[in-house]
Amino acid sequence: MYSSYRGRLAPTPSGLLHAGHARTFLAVWRRVREESGTLVFRVEDIDRERCRPEFEVAAREDLAWLGIDWDEGGGREGDFGPYRQSDRGELHRQVWLQLIRDGWVYPADFSRKEILRHQPRRESDGGILFPDALREAHESGQTAEPNPAINWRFRVPDGEIIEFEDGEKGRQRYVAGKDFGDFLVWRKAGGPSYELAVVADDIAMKITEVVRGEDLLLSTARQLLLYRALGAVAPGFRHVPLVRDRAGVRLSKTARSVAIRELRDEGWSPAQILAWPDRGDQS
Ligand code: GLU
Repeated sequence: MYSSYRGRLAPTPSGLLHAGHARTFLAVWRRVREESGTLVFRVEDIDRERCRPEFEVAAREDLAWLGIDWDEGGGREGDFGPYRQSDRGELHRQVWLQLIRDGWVYPADFSRKEILRHQPRRESDGGILFPDALREAHESGQTAEPNPAINWRFRVPDGEIIEFEDGEKGRQRYVAGKDFGDFLVWRKAGGPSYELAVVADDIAMKITEVVRGEDLLLSTARQLLLYRALGAVAPGFRHVPLVRDRAGVRLSKTARSVAIRELRDEGWSPAQILAWPDRGDQS
């Protein structure tokens, strides 16, 4: 019997999975099995330029080879799915329209160059904090026509403290407007941003706990604002440490050298890959 716990594996098929993914996805899988829950496989392929079907095939094969199995979205006969974000455009569009209707977002059609001209402050993870001056320029009393050919941003509540209990890292605390600014929900390329697509799908798929890499901690603060704006209950969150190579560099940066299938071809076993040494293990 399955419990009501629902987790998800959410690979982005823009390259081969590496040993860092293996560890993160193992953490997802362990939580689901520990809770006798359901694990959903969701392909995060909204970035059409970078994503390729062959990387989705490779991700499914690599995870299966590692012994990480899932319950929905497998694309097998009789199974639900496959779930691909690129097939879920209508849901994402509806969520974007809801945010416009309820006044949470505004059109913010500026180039990176224009944004930089305002000498923006930095977000706490080094990203550019969207300048107040540009927010105001576009906010002044206009009724926002839902034009999908421009960028749209979520207006964050300046100064509000966004707190959450992380299942792995304990209490987390961010200040809206300081640690992060107005963030993209819709891209002028005509599709949802990462933040919108993930929240829309996690709500629709009734995900109860999100387990992912700690590089997404700040995104969680943004996403909590989206849950609230949409009147939805947020799942639990658990951010796991990223795997580093021997030089202390995050694996994604050196992904080519540690792709799961390359290690497999070199004779590594699943257990060896899943135990890839992170920086803390080095003596
Ligand atoms: N698709 C994202 C990635 O591959 C994960 C997003 C998430 O877990 O929310 O990094």
